[in-house]
Amino acid sequence: MNRRQQGPLQTAWLFLTLCVCVVSAPRLLAKSPKAPPASEKKAACKELAIRFAPPLNLVFERVSKILARRIQERSGIRPVISTAQGSCNVELGLQEGIGNEGFRIEDVAGGVRIVGNDGRGLLYGVGKFLRSNTYHQGSLTLGDWRGTSVPEKPFRGIYFATHFFNWYHEAPVGKIERYVEDLGLWGYNVIIVYFDMHLFGGTQDPAAQAMLGRLNVILRTAKNVGLESGLICVVNEAYQDSPVAMRADWTAGHDGYTSELACHFHKELCPNKPGAKALLLKWRGEVFAAFREVGLNDVVLWPYDSGGCTCSLCKPWGVNGYIDLAESVAELARRNFPQCKIILSTWGFDNFISGEWDGLQARFSQANPKWIDYIMANEEEVKRYSGHPAARRVPGGFRLLSFPEISMWGASPWGGFGANPLPAHHQQLWNAAKDALAGGFPYSEGIFEDLNKVLFAQFFWRKDTPANSIVDEYIAYEFSPNVVPSVRKAIETLEKGYARRGENLEKDAGPVRFVMEQSSGAEEAFKLIEQADKNLTPAEQNRWRWRILYLRALIDSELVKNNYQVSPRCQQAMQELTKIYYAQKAVLPVAPPTKEAIERNRGHDWTSE
Ligand SMILES: [Zn+2]
Repeated sequence: MNRRQQGPLQTAWLFLTLCVCVVSAPRLLAKSPKAPPASEKKAACKELAIRFAPPLNLVFERVSKILARRIQERSGIRPVISTAQGSCNVELGLQEGIGNEGFRIEDVAGGVRIVGNDGRGLLYGVGKFLRSNTYHQGSLTLGDWRGTSVPEKPFRGIYFATHFFNWYHEAPVGKIERYVEDLGLWGYNVIIVYFDMHLFGGTQDPAAQAMLGRLNVILRTAKNVGLESGLICVVNEAYQDSPVAMRADWTAGHDGYTSELACHFHKELCPNKPGAKALLLKWRGEVFAAFREVGLNDVVLWPYDSGGCTCSLCKPWGVNGYIDLAESVAELARRNFPQCKIILSTWGFDNFISGEWDGLQARFSQANPKWIDYIMANEEEVKRYSGHPAARRVPGGFRLLSFPEISMWGASPWGGFGANPLPAHHQQLWNAAKDALAGGFPYSEGIFEDLNKVLFAQFFWRKDTPANSIVDEYIAYEFSPNVVPSVRKAIETLEKGYARRGENLEKDAGPVRFVMEQSSGAEEAFKLIEQADKNLTPAEQNRWRWRILYLRALIDSELVKNNYQVSPRCQQAMQELTKIYYAQKAVLPVAPPTKEAIERNRGHDWTSE
């Protein structure tokens, strides 16, 4: 979603159509009585055995493979997966009682033991272990993080927007699989997708089949890593050729509506028109059937952007037509996926008609619905329920999730200038919401906001983890421990200079420019990044996470030097970003703004993609 950046919800109209653990401080230190001396712990390992108590099960198998592959990539060592003792050992184990999805890392003779409370806890423990080690060519030094860590927020999801020919839409499946593993290692536990009905003629439409196939691959990947799968459902959405007589109203100026529904496709159905609800549930059942094999753990019900109906019978949508229909969709979801959790979104509440939040409070205080597990609110609304004690009770007393915006803030095209790390911005938003939340799922348009994703994975893990420490852990693991201070300083400067506005992209009315609100520091930030680049190995220099940060610093520096116009060097950097993002067909909001991308998109209505 998220088809525009202005409007009642301002930056956040994300949604559908278009529409993380630095060192979690150990809660308790569990030192093994047989801990080897420090000198032995610090010795470099030239070989490594990954061991586990037999029998081999699926959890050990998948986590061992993820661990072995990353160690080999970073050190050249090919770990042996066995039950035999080697000179350096990583033992994997499972033990209930640590805490849901938690882990413990402890010393054992000749290495460390990583114990998960469950399969996911083991994966998160392996992530922590990988990030605490130091890697060299031909050896690695085991890190010294020991202790127990348990996530504080139970729902740590991420929403992949698969549209506009962005990275999620276009990247090879193997890259998606790898990325989902990486997000799991940082602490995420749910991957969420959306099937946008209005683009298709029905589930049997070949284009719909292709999209359903891709969404299934993404969710299967999540399941294979041991994570949960989720689907967003706009409750009254409809296919492109929906029956005209059943369609919903989106207009304002009547029944209390003060503005037209944003991002409404005018294909949606009004559930109060004869036959419409039955048809909506039939279609929804067909969509659920398309996910039956992979299974859905989480179903997110959505009111607006797109969706909604402003008619007299549905008004106010958020308290009346929406909730009635959402309950029926939830019942259908549970018939298909008996254990699934239901998340009721309040996206857009009180933006088109007032009183929806208050109305929800009143409706749920009369009869507490049993079919809801969480309520989702945007980052602004969550503040209503924050504080000690909480400013007010969440309707129905349900646990609250947020929908952080990590992709579109400050600049467009999203990701068009490379990485957009925004640690100070997200820290501020998180501080205002962290006490009220049981987690959330950031909206993601691609891989350019990888660091922002990691921030939220780690905020969700331990709410008081400072953003700075997350940034340091990210730099040390994803780039190199050798460049932490200089890259941290560069990121601070790049964040301050991120906000910018484009000129003359859609019409050829003058030179294309990206005017930065703050240009000071851009050249200094690029110098820091260039210096850091010299301290990286060739393999480290070529990793995509480093390249998108390097290119961001280069592009900003070039824009400032060239009156915010795209210089040949800047164009070249944007072409490299296009390759990294698989954005050769991308629509402008998600395309690095090369000359080709701007030409390709002029006069093109991307909102129909
Ligand atoms: Zn209606």
